[in-house]
Amino acid sequence: MAISYSQLQTYGRCPRQYEYGYIKKLPRRISAPESFGSSVHNTLKKWGDREMEGRKQKAASSKQLHLFTDSEPADFCPLTSDFLLELWHSSFIVEGYETRVEADMARLRGEQVMRFFFDWWRKEERTVLCIEKGFSLTINGTQISGRFDRIEQTERGLKVIDFKTSAVKPQEKVDADLQLSVYALACAEIFELPCAELSFLFLGEEGAMEVCTERTPGHLKDASKQILNMEQNIESGNFHPTPSRDVCRSCPYKGVCDVAAV
Ligand code: SF4
Repeated sequence: MAISYSQLQTYGRCPRQYEYGYIKKLPRRISAPESFGSSVHNTLKKWGDREMEGRKQKAASSKQLHLFTDSEPADFCPLTSDFLLELWHSSFIVEGYETRVEADMARLRGEQVMRFFFDWWRKEERTVLCIEKGFSLTINGTQISGRFDRIEQTERGLKVIDFKTSAVKPQEKVDADLQLSVYALACAEIFELPCAELSFLFLGEEGAMEVCTERTPGHLKDASKQILNMEQNIESGNFHPTPSRDVCRSCPYKGVCDVAAV
């Protein structure tokens, strides 16, 4: 079996939502929160790419300075808040909003979110290893694909950061989050290094809130079991709905589902 992590995530939210999306393949519209999240991810991908490019330029320039001692270093990288706002506006996706006014309000809200991101980002020196990097790993014989938002090299080792534009999750939920466990497993497989830290960076109108966590071998064993359980349920066709107000409210199939809790 081959499955993406976002498919597993959908199954975890509600098995019927998975059935509608991946078995029956019902058409769906991108929602406003999804569109906003994609705009944020696109912007931060370009920002991260620019960070990595700046590091390369800096390394190349310092090699040259050894050869030509009176050379001036190049003007490396305009990693300023104005540059980030430029990226935001050029990456903003207008689809998904009911009206033009709603889209304009989201665009403005995003400016504030980007300022919060910038304040978080500049708090410390950062070494980015990769941005939006796809991965594939095998767990219990199943191939699982996914994508890291951002990996940094820190003094302690590798740190995986995932951007979220949804509501902030409390520490205990982040400690038990399956997505972060999959990232820890993928990190160890791809980089052959343990993941020292993982975090969700929640980006909202109230600020940028980072909730950090770690994974022990015991957590990773539990994650493998959870994934195996989901795979078995999917293969046996168990798509029993699990309606809840929070999940149904943003479900793209709430209009056709007879048990939607909205
Ligand atoms: S509306 Fe609710 S119960 Fe129905 S598929 Fe969506 S999330 Fe599941």
